[in-house]
Amino acid sequence: MQTSADWVHYVLPDGPEHVHGQCRPAVVVHRWPDGTANLLVFRDGTNDGPLGLVQWVTSVTPSDRHEFGTWHRADTHEDGEGEA
Ligand SMILES: [Zn+2]
Repeated sequence: MQTSADWVHYVLPDGPEHVHGQCRPAVVVHRWPDGTANLLVFRDGTNDGPLGLVQWVTSVTPSDRHEFGTWHRADTHEDGEGEA
């Protein structure tokens, strides 16, 4: 189970259209019993639009299918992006 301070990926549902579906690093700041999580998402500066550098998103659903607006473990990537 993910705990607070774990790094995950958040799949962008917003910002400029070309970044939709891209992963951004995020830290879990709260985990709800149903598996959803509150995250602080680290944006790619102004490349991700005028949303600020760190974005708080709440009750984000976990998914390994990379749906927009979901989170997944950073080490589950098939394409290698984000692997440590
Ligand atoms: Zn990812």
